[in-house]
Amino acid sequence: MVLSAMPVGENDRRVVLLTKERGKISAFARGARKVNSPLLAKCQPFVAGEFTVYPGRDSYTVVQAEILEYFQEIRTDLEAVCYGCYFCEFAGYFARENLEAGDLLNFLYLTLRMLVKKRFSYPFLRRVFEIKVLALEGEGPWVFDCVSCHEKEGISWFFHSRGGLLCDRCIQKSGKNLRGTDAVRVEEGVRYTLSYILASPLASVYSFHLADAAAEKFSLFVKDYVDRNVVHEFKSLQMNLSGF
Ligand SMILES: [Zn+2]
Repeated sequence: MVLSAMPVGENDRRVVLLTKERGKISAFARGARKVNSPLLAKCQPFVAGEFTVYPGRDSYTVVQAEILEYFQEIRTDLEAVCYGCYFCEFAGYFARENLEAGDLLNFLYLTLRMLVKKRFSYPFLRRVFEIKVLALEGEGPWVFDCVSCHEKEGISWFFHSRGGLLCDRCIQKSGKNLRGTDAVRVEEGVRYTLSYILASPLASVYSFHLADAAAEKFSLFVKDYVDRNVVHEFKSLQMNLSGF
């Protein structure tokens, strides 16, 4: 999938691709801005398909592309474009060159499809996407049981310093402070939603429904978690839109 595209010179484009086999790679698309170029429509953000590239000295070159999905509907909705760009940038931030990225790619693809379907609000979709990507990268929160003793009852406090929930007994034993900024109370509904998303196979992550009030609480938890764990300024977030 094309994560981003930049004009180069008179007629060319440089694209960043997220690939299953080689992770995030940068590729040169010669003549991709010429009106009659077969690469013109293919080397644009969100376009997904099978790209044939050959390696050069310091970058790949796109030879041809068989497109599976253009995500044209996203392009007609400015707000969707902003979210789409953010999803691509977020995924690209975690992807590495020469490191297989099949899951990340699949999930980004599924998320762009959800952006088109509009079954979830964009801000909520953003939070589900973020937390699942963090989990795919091994940086998700531990919400299934007590991170210390694996007790399943009385687990309503999340400790950022531990990356997980602690049960009431472990909190007492450790003398943890519940008033500091480290501890956040997590309602059972939020914990259940998080568990569902984190444990679900990619294809069923988005197969749930949540009432607005619960979605709001879930989003607040994820926002806080992401703010603390992903220290990076995303360019696409600077596009000044409501909801961001
Ligand atoms: Zn415990």
